[in-house]
Amino acid sequence: MVIRCRLRAYDQTERAKVIKLSFHGAAGTVTGSKYLLDVNGKRILIDCGMFQGKHELRERNWKQLPFEPSTVSAVVLTHAHIDHIGYLPRLVKEGFYGTIFCTPPTAEITRISLMDTAELQMEDAEFRNKKHATRHAPALPLFTVDDVDDTLKLLETVNFNEWIEFSPEFRFRYHVVGHLLGAACIEVRMNDNGREVSILFSGDIGRFGNPLVKNPAEPPTCDYLVCESTYGGRMHPAEDPYFQFDELVDRIVKEKRVLVVPAFAVGRTQQIIYLVDDLVRHKRIMPIDIHVDSPMAVDATDIYIKYHDYHALDLEQLDGIGSVLNGKRVHLHRTRASSKKLNDLKGPAIIISSSGMLSGGRVMHHMIHRLPDPGTTVALVGFMAEGTLGRKLLDGDRQVFIHKMPIEVRAEIVVVSSLSGHADYYEILHWLEPIKTPPKTTFITHGEPDQSLAMSEHLVKERGWQTLIPKLDQSVEL
Ligand SMILES: [Zn+2]
Repeated sequence: MVIRCRLRAYDQTERAKVIKLSFHGAAGTVTGSKYLLDVNGKRILIDCGMFQGKHELRERNWKQLPFEPSTVSAVVLTHAHIDHIGYLPRLVKEGFYGTIFCTPPTAEITRISLMDTAELQMEDAEFRNKKHATRHAPALPLFTVDDVDDTLKLLETVNFNEWIEFSPEFRFRYHVVGHLLGAACIEVRMNDNGREVSILFSGDIGRFGNPLVKNPAEPPTCDYLVCESTYGGRMHPAEDPYFQFDELVDRIVKEKRVLVVPAFAVGRTQQIIYLVDDLVRHKRIMPIDIHVDSPMAVDATDIYIKYHDYHALDLEQLDGIGSVLNGKRVHLHRTRASSKKLNDLKGPAIIISSSGMLSGGRVMHHMIHRLPDPGTTVALVGFMAEGTLGRKLLDGDRQVFIHKMPIEVRAEIVVVSSLSGHADYYEILHWLEPIKTPPKTTFITHGEPDQSLAMSEHLVKERGWQTLIPKLDQSVEL
């Protein structure tokens, strides 16, 4: 009898072990988000991001995944930043053929963003092979536009707050989380033969009061939480971005400088155009030309016009968002030739070009050309991951290397952190406020180690929550 009891107890424990969560990205670092959920042999992946920044991280994009892509039934995306979607074409190339769920704006941004990344990767490989600037012979793109085409066929759009039950083991729904048009946190409910477990993936948590997205919605109470910690140990300046930007652009106009803003073509680019337009309309600054140097920018602006229900801009007051984002002072540069011509541009002017972390893209040629020029100001407005040129400029390096060429930094470097798209730790705590029953464990991810540790300490000390900072490829049982 005793033995039978023990056996039953053992069986119970075994039963409890068949729900598994594995962290295959954004653990110990900010990029490469990939969380694998395993219920009774069925698998889904939350986000499928590319590793960016340090060389050893980027190398991971080329390593074999610790799971077989064809065994994953679905990928559920939080939002369309490359560190959350940039590995999708590779996953498909390696055998994934399930469904990729996302919100409608995320599908559109994913389309233009993956196409742009594939083209950049292909151009970069060609450039390296031509210049023999590669240790790999030949240099190859991580994925091609054909791989992106295959990926886009798998996208399925889902609205916010709608339960999607796609297998007896998994159902999920999206909640608004700000950050980027269409961005969501994901509430997943898993069922293992009658045992229900819920988990909330925060995705990237936005900030309150950004008109280009909606405010993050109240998060639901869940058994487990996976929480980002990009700014887990920092607080953004209380200063309104409006005033910080007002002073900066006013000075750019008066001193006839060229302001270069490295920014992703979707989201921040529109935010800056909107801010400048608003400052001009309120006669706080003189009009200034804005050059958006991105082949994606036209499509990106159209997405904002099409999905006006997903942001908080007052269309009536603005006389149509298109008139602001396509204003006569806004010049769009689609071609490479048109982008190169910007080298002759004299101030006052603003150039917005991607990538946002200065980790590739057209902005790099502007950096080669303009960093040695004291008449240039570079505004760092977003998060800069370790190993990126953006981080080196943020750290005050006066000499940097681009394509192995030494470049002297004589340009002025300014930080406009109040324009950040990520909540700081205080805002994350505020967002989590409605959760009155603490999750059994909160997994702290998507942060550099010091930031994740700080976020963990805030939750432990201020909320009394139990936390765990997972290591890369660590699995836990839920
Ligand atoms: Zn993001």
